[in-house]
Amino acid sequence: MAGSARTASIDTDRKDNIAVFNPATGEELWTVPVATREDVQRAVAECRQAQTQWAALSYTQRGKMLVRFRDHLIDCKDEIANTLSGETGKPKSEVFSAELFYTCDAIGFWAKQSARLLADCEQRLHLFKNKRAYSTYKPRGVIGMITPWNFPLILTIGEAIPALMAGNGVVIKPSEVTPLTAQLGCRLGEEAGLPPGLLSCVTGYGQTGSDLIDFVDMVSFTGSVETGRRIQIKCAEQLKPTTMELGGNDPAIVCADADLERAANGIVWGSMVNSGQVCLSIERAYVHEKIYDKFVEMVVDRLGKLKQGMPDDGADIGSMTFAPQLDKVERHVEEAKRKGARVLAGGKRPADRDGLWFTPTLLVDVTADMEVMREETFGPVIAIQKVKDDAEALRLANDSRYGLSASVWSRDKRGAMNIARRIEAGAVCVNDHMVHMLIPEIPMGGIKESGIGRRHGAEGITKYCVQQSIIIDRFGLRGEVFWYPGMKNAAGRFSRVLNLLFRSRKSVAQMLRSPKSGG
Ligand code: NAD
Repeated sequence: MAGSARTASIDTDRKDNIAVFNPATGEELWTVPVATREDVQRAVAECRQAQTQWAALSYTQRGKMLVRFRDHLIDCKDEIANTLSGETGKPKSEVFSAELFYTCDAIGFWAKQSARLLADCEQRLHLFKNKRAYSTYKPRGVIGMITPWNFPLILTIGEAIPALMAGNGVVIKPSEVTPLTAQLGCRLGEEAGLPPGLLSCVTGYGQTGSDLIDFVDMVSFTGSVETGRRIQIKCAEQLKPTTMELGGNDPAIVCADADLERAANGIVWGSMVNSGQVCLSIERAYVHEKIYDKFVEMVVDRLGKLKQGMPDDGADIGSMTFAPQLDKVERHVEEAKRKGARVLAGGKRPADRDGLWFTPTLLVDVTADMEVMREETFGPVIAIQKVKDDAEALRLANDSRYGLSASVWSRDKRGAMNIARRIEAGAVCVNDHMVHMLIPEIPMGGIKESGIGRRHGAEGITKYCVQQSIIIDRFGLRGEVFWYPGMKNAAGRFSRVLNLLFRSRKSVAQMLRSPKSGG
């Protein structure tokens, strides 16, 4: 299937192989090795060697090679879709419309924009007119990319693109649940002509990720808050830069004047796409009491029409991906029911399917103390709470340790913008949700416990660089006022300069009394 030239060879007798399953059927697909610390060290060393040639190329040359990689991704899209749907259970439509679309678009975007975003920038100096000063960007070296299972292409190869365009090498530690797509992506990169080892993959559990941290120059992590915290602590000990894209529990606020048709369609999609396993999934909706009954009825209707099925079935949503996540979803729904929530749609594992399935679920009569409202559920579940006004919706939306994204649904765009500004989240969409995930110009990332740093926008690439300032003397004089011997007996002179430049009231008064002395 997705074997890679860049990973240690697979020995099925080794106990430390990881079996990868098709979550929709429970069938075993493939095994991948657990990379040892030595394997990881070797992969980073190879990457470092490749990176030095890569960094010597111009942005145009790097961009051309990545566009060749994109061509190869497009030519191999069916193999990618089979591998990716196989290990995640997601419909092929989602592989093409999200995973491949994002990754191919990212290549075009960063290939075109990197030279502009990372160009040397001459700074106009307010004081030192005898100098020229530039800020420049250089690659960090090797980026260690530790990634989750919910978007195995976007969050591995897709996120590697800006790092590569900046001149870095990338070693990916994909999730142990879905390692095949990243392996395949790295193999396709090499086949398309990327220097061997520049974009590579080490498979394994958390320990492999932890080993990777020790050898790389920066860690780019996407995953849960709990793992992110552990990685951040380890990186702090080594003073290693990180970027952290973590979990969420996104709220949607539906105002009394919302276009209910659009809001119901958008919120059902925003909560169910990828079986709700998106960091940006809508998990809580706060709906104005004036339209609550009608809105709930519309959501029930739409959830009932969703087709859940196998990747090739033309279904709207597929299975879930990770067994412990399905257990968590079930636990959250059961806890909500025990505390008084009502299930108006779904709410269970379908009896007629093997594999990791949970029916599209709507909970109402929910309260702020329930886990579905407080924690990340990460499954096909939406909870709707009635509110008396926008202020109550805003208070409840902000009552969260997460702050990834949110949405506001209203016909009054100005009013919605005012609500958006007061929501504590890294991004807020008005009459839409999570679309910023597909807009590379716009920074995306979390506040509070949802993360540190941004993907997309200028920061989406400058984070993979070290910034260097270069200052050039213009006139070549023998010395400078600060140099020796000019500092001898200079206290009085500098004291007067301070008075002239920064003019406190007292110094101005002194200068007026004794203008020649300057103070
Ligand atoms: P996870 O945190 O369990 O694992 C993520 C990765 O970290 C895996 O590759 C895992 O092997 C590795 N890892 C585990 N322990 C480690 C350690 N001690 N040192 C180094 N690496 C270690 O997350 P998951 O269950 O795979 O993914 C789901 C989570 O990811 C959800 O919380 C979701 O919200 C989040 N996520 C966030 C974004 C975002 O952009 N903010 C995007 C997608 C997913």
